[in-house]
Amino acid sequence: MSERTETHCPYCALQCGMQLTPADGTVSAEPRDFPTNRGGLCQKGWTSPALLRATDRITTPLVRDASGELRPTSWEQAYGRIVDGVRAAQARRGPDAVAVFGGGGLTNEKAYSLGKFARIALGTRLIDYNGRFCMSSAAAAGNRAFGLDRGLPFPLTDLDGADAVLLVGSNLAETMPPSVQHLSGPRSRGGLVVIDPRHTPTAALTDDGAGLHLQALPGTDLVVLLGLLHLAIQREAVDARYLRDRVTGWDGVARAAVQWWPERVERATGVPVERLRRAAEILCAATPSAGGRGAYVLTGRGAEQHAHGTDTVTAAINLSLALGLCGREGSGYGCITGQGNGQGGREHGQKADQLPGYRRIDDPAAREHVAQVWGVDAGSIPGPGVPAVELLRSLGTTSGPSVLLVHGANPAVSAPDLTAVQERLRSLDLLVVCDFVPSETAQLADVVLPTTQWAEESGTMTNLEGRILMRRKAVRPPDGARDELRIWHDLAALLGCAATFATDPAQVLDELARASAGGIADYGGVSWERLQSGEAIHWPCPRPDHPGTPRLFLDSFATADGRARMVPVDAAPVDDDLRPGAPLYLITGRLLQHYQSGAQTRRIGGLTRGAPQAFVQLHPITAQRLGVEEGTDVTVTSARGSATAPARLSRTLRPEVVFMPFHFAGTQAANNLTNPATDPISGMPEFKVCAVDVVAARSI
Ligand code: SF4
Repeated sequence: MSERTETHCPYCALQCGMQLTPADGTVSAEPRDFPTNRGGLCQKGWTSPALLRATDRITTPLVRDASGELRPTSWEQAYGRIVDGVRAAQARRGPDAVAVFGGGGLTNEKAYSLGKFARIALGTRLIDYNGRFCMSSAAAAGNRAFGLDRGLPFPLTDLDGADAVLLVGSNLAETMPPSVQHLSGPRSRGGLVVIDPRHTPTAALTDDGAGLHLQALPGTDLVVLLGLLHLAIQREAVDARYLRDRVTGWDGVARAAVQWWPERVERATGVPVERLRRAAEILCAATPSAGGRGAYVLTGRGAEQHAHGTDTVTAAINLSLALGLCGREGSGYGCITGQGNGQGGREHGQKADQLPGYRRIDDPAAREHVAQVWGVDAGSIPGPGVPAVELLRSLGTTSGPSVLLVHGANPAVSAPDLTAVQERLRSLDLLVVCDFVPSETAQLADVVLPTTQWAEESGTMTNLEGRILMRRKAVRPPDGARDELRIWHDLAALLGCAATFATDPAQVLDELARASAGGIADYGGVSWERLQSGEAIHWPCPRPDHPGTPRLFLDSFATADGRARMVPVDAAPVDDDLRPGAPLYLITGRLLQHYQSGAQTRRIGGLTRGAPQAFVQLHPITAQRLGVEEGTDVTVTSARGSATAPARLSRTLRPEVVFMPFHFAGTQAANNLTNPATDPISGMPEFKVCAVDVVAARSI
């Protein structure tokens, strides 16, 4: 293959447009114009071709032998081990003896096929995926309020024209740098407001009159949002006509908000009254009802990854609805989805409770529709499974699955309370991992199947705006690697499954389009040909001649009566709060150079030179109290485990807060510490805050 290929970045949900060009036996990446990146790429995108040359690339199946070593083997033997293991487990304990864990980076075709493979070929109800750790709280809150969840129900470029953008727990400047250009308009008008416990590079964008940073205590975003709503009511900025025409539930929400006067909010969150008032002033003046150009409220993982994440996002949505922002051109609420196909990955059946097209798996009509596309009896589709944390917790227990298949995920680094998760993974009778590099989860596996990766295969992705696009094959995969579509096709046949599993992604997309047709995420009019020709289409797109739907809810919301639903929410304490012996809050997050568990980016020299290892960021006042200097190894301990990394002193965070990036493994893994307590609605774990102690490593 020697032509230039127009494609998209392998990493985050911005899905920046890029061009890959073969050069001297390698491949180079350059940005190309696409609405989300407008010709920009971050370091991860520029260096992404290095992933194709990973020195420890897996190119042959591996099976763990009697001595405990992973040894190369043939595909037939590896498949045989899997099929025998699945059959033996299911003969003993039934279909749910086998579970599947998927990933938000899989293409739409793979996400769809994996859901079908789990339910039809394996017959298990136990499938969930790492997107549960990503935006599930926003998805649950969006469904509750609007009747559907599409990360941004408007194009990202719409932000440019707004007077104000309120970012809650999102560090766009590090996670998706090219997206920051869409904040230029609001910043130029002094309208960027960032709620974050750290003065991140994104919070720094508010400096010099561009806006305002509200440095709230960890776990208190919900209260800040209630305080902003309180002030909006006080300022008479609530859009009463909009509420009357388009919303239900205002009275209960207003009653909850009036309890949160600014001084009370300051006591609970640490945000000074005058800053809260200024933020409310910026936001309220930007609304259409006040004659402004418009305002957006956006949430990220900092707001969502909590045991009350759904309620926090609901508070953000309530504020947006009260100000009359949603379903209106030039204003709105949205969630900044993180993983590359975090949006598409949650639409097509990887989620425990969903069938393709965002159909509910317990809806008889949905089951009937999908069964007809799959050519099976609706009664043979197993019912809902359990969310990821519960699934991982049940592995290897007397009532839980004894076989796990992992695709496109690295839970041995990305899950909360890692020590317990790794123990559960080790306890399995059979752990199968499909990957192209020996991730930490693959290193624990009994069988590893080598897969192709992004630029070695074609497939479609759905970005953070619900825009479906084509990621094209640019290079030949190495001998020995196989596309997962082929792997599921082969395994389904060996397991005696009568349903068809296509290996051609174009055929899979065609089937996915039929399975999703008429559903909420309707891909019915999306075809391989349209995407191949360069179109990028926002769902829903119900017909081949339909242009797609960049902006949702302009006429009505996707609820039964067309009205958005407000739900009263109130403050909830941090699940694992400060106490004697654990006097500091740990928060976790991302670095510019790394993506997710780091399994890919920790293999790229151009990235690891800038961020070779984890660190523990702490305020100089805290460091002085602990007798710690810059670069000293410190050990952070929570109720679940510990991690050790060099101290990095910074005044960008509050003295009662320490920060660790979560991209690293082993003794540096932040998730050794994090709390697996989950949100009761979304199943999201409380990654973002827990109580810890910090000591100089030499002193223990
Ligand atoms: Fe763009 Fe995200 Fe890739 Fe960076 S990682 S180039 S922001 S898609």
